[in-house]
Amino acid sequence: MTLAEQWRAARPPVAGVHVDSAACSRQSFAVIEAAAQHARHEAEVGGYVAAEAAAPALDAGRAAVRALTGIPDAVVHFTTGSNHALDILLGDWTGARTLACLPGEFGPNLAIMARHGFSIKVLPVDEFGRLDVNAVGAALSSHQPALVHFTVLGSHSGIVQPVHDMASACRGHGIPLIVDAAQGFAHLDVAGIGADALYSSSRKWTAGPRGVGVLASRPGLLADDTRIRLNHAETNVGLQVGFSVAVGEYVAAGPDAVQSRLREVGAATRTALADVPGWRVVEHVTEPSAITTLQSTDGLDPLDVRTRLIAEHQIVTTYLGLERAPREMSHPALRVSPHVDVTDADLAALADALATVTR
Ligand SMILES: *Cc1c(COP(=O)(O)O)cnc(C)c1O
Repeated sequence: MTLAEQWRAARPPVAGVHVDSAACSRQSFAVIEAAAQHARHEAEVGGYVAAEAAAPALDAGRAAVRALTGIPDAVVHFTTGSNHALDILLGDWTGARTLACLPGEFGPNLAIMARHGFSIKVLPVDEFGRLDVNAVGAALSSHQPALVHFTVLGSHSGIVQPVHDMASACRGHGIPLIVDAAQGFAHLDVAGIGADALYSSSRKWTAGPRGVGVLASRPGLLADDTRIRLNHAETNVGLQVGFSVAVGEYVAAGPDAVQSRLREVGAATRTALADVPGWRVVEHVTEPSAITTLQSTDGLDPLDVRTRLIAEHQIVTTYLGLERAPREMSHPALRVSPHVDVTDADLAALADALATVTR
């Protein structure tokens, strides 16, 4: 069986075409069952006894995350999502409240930075919003921020950021690096970055349940009282078990194989959509991600298009409003983000439907 066939066989059949993995992937039977079984076990033996029984499964999940994020001896906490992780990190920060990030930074992240009193310096980029690796050293030297927050792959575009160059610039300047891998984890290779902290969400490319995420940090980065508070906070253990199973499935499928298939999916998507009248594909065909963004060339509202694609064609895409990346986006867009199982027929159906809706 190919990776695509395995992926499809492992989950309920899709109603229509689902090309919305950057928002929320489809869970496997095993992930759904693991979370449900944990809930059943809670009813049988009590929530706290069931949590003790689930500890080895969660430890396995944390160990897999430690390996996949490449932070040696990382302290791994389950969160309720990526924004929760950033809130924990910035709330815990005792240094100066200055940080550098990309102009395409995720809008809700900017709000969290502002809420914690951080002032923001914008990193230099090219016309695609990609970090300008030749200018980054000088930018960091002229106004050294206390930390760099780097979103390796945004929510508003498929552009893959040169995170390894960012990491080496941070090391050269002795600046701690926090990586937002909400779109990067289980999609791109994030194992070799050497970040001080890296966080992600379960429901996106890992295809775990909603409402859970993970934060991996270098030992000593988080204060003891922050860690104690996190360890005692009320959490949904069943979702953490489900996420751990999903991470295990990613490891079993082979991160290299998944990543390479997702690059292929991105290229196939952009090729299939290149000639749909009235739309412009933002990324180059070979951009190494499975996220494709489309802009209307005749002023159609992508929100309306997304709604009609679901209602009239059973095709699920994402609407990208300017609030996703308020410092960079000037036009709303439509995002297409298939997982490894997408077929040529799915992409052809999407191209046809998009043309029909546009006409
Ligand atoms: C989805 C997303 C987030 C927020 O993740 P939540 O789990 O919803 O908190 C943060 N950053 C990026 C780049 C995202 O795509």
